[in-house]
Amino acid sequence: MNSNHTMTIEFWKMFLSEIYHANLLELKHGLTSKKSLFIDFQILTTFGSEGFAIADLLLKNPDEVFADIKEAFQGHDFQVRFFNLPKRIILDDVREDRINILISIMGEVEEVRAITPRIEIATYQCPAGHYTSIKVGLGNLKKPDRCGSENCKYMRFKLVPELSKIIDTQQITINISSDFKRKSRNLLIDLYNDVFYNLEKGDRIIINGILRCNFIEKQKNNVDLKFYIEANSIEICESTLENIISNPHRKSFNIDAITKAKCPERIDVQIKKIIRDNPNLSCEEQKIAIYQKLAEIPTENIDIWLEKLQNSGIIYPRKNGYIIF
Ligand SMILES: [Zn+2]
Repeated sequence: MNSNHTMTIEFWKMFLSEIYHANLLELKHGLTSKKSLFIDFQILTTFGSEGFAIADLLLKNPDEVFADIKEAFQGHDFQVRFFNLPKRIILDDVREDRINILISIMGEVEEVRAITPRIEIATYQCPAGHYTSIKVGLGNLKKPDRCGSENCKYMRFKLVPELSKIIDTQQITINISSDFKRKSRNLLIDLYNDVFYNLEKGDRIIINGILRCNFIEKQKNNVDLKFYIEANSIEICESTLENIISNPHRKSFNIDAITKAKCPERIDVQIKKIIRDNPNLSCEEQKIAIYQKLAEIPTENIDIWLEKLQNSGIIYPRKNGYIIF
């Protein structure tokens, strides 16, 4: 293990316990039915130079970052989901050279399939009794290329269902268009665990996830690339929420699912709004108003935010309240 790797693990422990302290406690102690921790990408990028570098790595090599987070919180079974990613890509960006990177894409739901169980981690056993586990994506269940035990030459494996991990998954198809809507295409989205949002045909959504590809052999030397997105999170923002409410295909409207998916406003934006809405209070009174309105965020985190905003010259404390520049 190199020092860079150790530093990254330490960063995740520090970042999550500082900014998402309350959510982390809920997940660790099973106080919530959710299995996901939602992280604002924008907060990560502004968390010092290290946060910025790791945010950049997350976009380029998400698998490495997700493995680091898993290692930092060993023994805790929760999924980290990012929202507020920087650039939304379009159809023309769904290309071979973008496979395995984290992307954000907007599209209209075409088809929603039923939630079904699928093996996520398949554990195989060779005739010598060694176990080999492999992560399974969308597509056919593949056997390991070789036994996980060093020097074992066996190439025959049988699946051990009781040691494999089964998760709930759902596939949806979205229609994405290219620049100026010259053309459009359907793209398969793979959702798993608790990232199901009661979506319906016609809903406009933003998918954040890893671009994956299945290679389907058609004939000799002829391989078909089948792109899909392994969804990390779905966002429904104000403009898309309006589209969902007015969607003629929607028979029912589950407000709970929508609230869950709606991307939360950034903390700095909320703090500035509360200060602006309470102009005649002192700094201390404005602070209390912020604590009350943002009750789900630990107070020490709000203090960090206020300090950050002040150090960046965005707000300035005066006797009769903060001034916003
Ligand atoms: Zn073996």
